[in-house]
Parts: sequence; structure tokens; C-alpha cells
Amino acid sequence: MRHDLAYPLMGICALIDRVDVDVSSELGEDAFVLDEDNARVAFRVGVIERVVRETDRFADEVGYSDAEERLRLVQRAVNQFVVHELVHIKQNFPHFASVQHVKDGMPDYGVPMLDAAADVVAAWTCANVECERLEARAENDLLLEYVNALLLAYLIGAFVFDVRGRPPKIQRALGLVISALLVQALASGTLNRQVLFEGWRELSPVLVLDLEKTSIFNAFVLDGLPGLLVPTYEVLRDDLAGRFWRSAGTAPLMATLQLGSEILLEIDAIARG
Ligand SMILES: [Zn+2]
Repeated sequence: MRHDLAYPLMGICALIDRVDVDVSSELGEDAFVLDEDNARVAFRVGVIERVVRETDRFADEVGYSDAEERLRLVQRAVNQFVVHELVHIKQNFPHFASVQHVKDGMPDYGVPMLDAAADVVAAWTCANVECERLEARAENDLLLEYVNALLLAYLIGAFVFDVRGRPPKIQRALGLVISALLVQALASGTLNRQVLFEGWRELSPVLVLDLEKTSIFNAFVLDGLPGLLVPTYEVLRDDLAGRFWRSAGTAPLMATLQLGSEILLEIDAIARG
């Protein structure tokens, strides 16, 4: 599966070679500034600080006590954030001005779709890097690092940038949770592939339906031939879908993961391990 990285990273490697990657303390709404004339990409310190703060908070939530382990988690989140932003350059989306054009031309879903695609590429890249660093070579090691990376992507997508009250952003963020749970089930042998859309694969960007506007659970798989994640609309007990939806961007993150897992168990997409 490693060759999946070749295409999205092709331009990025050339870019990193060509430009200085830097930080900037100037304020602004965008995550980074690409200065082509001076061959420089500068990331906003303020955004990186939020990535560090939220990752630190998550480390508390999951009870990381080892200082080195915490530091690595923070480093991974910052790296992943940087790779996500660099993927935007590859997506022909290099300047903050383009955000407004995309919002004008495809109001709700333009930016979340580009983000969802950048998220999975960045998560997959960083999972590969982590496996290289740990010299973990088994296929499952890579899948499990990818699960962690998808959760970091959710942390960044839902907490660093507040999603509450913004349905398209919630759809992208919760899609990452669903992807993480499906990949985890794949790694542990509990994924019921036959229930899933056959176009779904580990690197598929996924956007969940707005679970406040529909009482069923389903998600868009935005890959190759786009399709719906599961074929049948199941009525879910205990307002599971609504509770999952409302949990986006709220702590504890593990509660969102638990709700997502209950939904996937309920619709038989995963089996109890
Ligand atoms: Zn983005």
C-alpha cells in the first residue's frame, strides 16, 4: 500500500527541496503563507500553538505520563498538520485567497472535501514515517499507526479548528473517526467488509451525513467511484447517531470514538472483537 503515497507526495517532496519551511508570528486566518518569490513557506505560530495545546490536552485525557511519549505525540500532531497544509499546495489550493473562491463556488462542501482528502494523505504519510522511526515493519503496525494518525487528524480538525455549529466541518471530522474505527477493525480482523461499500479502502476520504438532519447513519466515501459507506439505512437505538453528531469537537475525544464504535457495531460494519 505504500505506493499510494507516491502521487500526492511527488510535488511536495520537490517543494520541500525548493523552499524554506519556517514559522511566522504575524497574525492571520490562514495556517501558512506561501511566498513563491522568496521560496518560503511560513506557518503561523498561533495555529501551531493550538495544535500543541490540544494535543497536550488529549495526552492528559488518555493518561500519557511519560514525558518522551507526550513530546512525540505533540511532534506527530505538528508534523501531520504541516503535511496536511503542504498537501493543499499539491491540490492547487496554495493561498488563503483560494479558500474564499472555493467557498463562493462550492459553499458548504468545497473546503471540507479538500480537507478530508488532505487529512488521509497526511495521516498515511505520518503513519509511514512513524513506522520507519520505530522500525515497525508488519502491515498491522502500519495500520495501527494510521489509526492513531487519523485520530490526531480528528483532534486537529475538530478541536484546533472549532467545528461546533458548523455541519460540513463536523461531517469531515466525524468521517475521520469512522475511518479510524474501520481501519482499526481491519487491523484486528473484525471488519465486515461485505457490509461496506466496495469502493471503500483505508485511504478513502469519508464524510458522514448530517446526523441532525437525518435519523439514519451513513457516510459518503469520496474515492474513485464515490458512494455511500453502507447500503441499508438502519434505525439506530438510543439516539446514537444524534449523540455521535453532537459530540464532535467536545471532550473527551474517547466518548466520540465510543459512540462511533457503537454505531458501526449496530449496523454490523464491525464485529465485537
Ligand atoms: Zn486544510
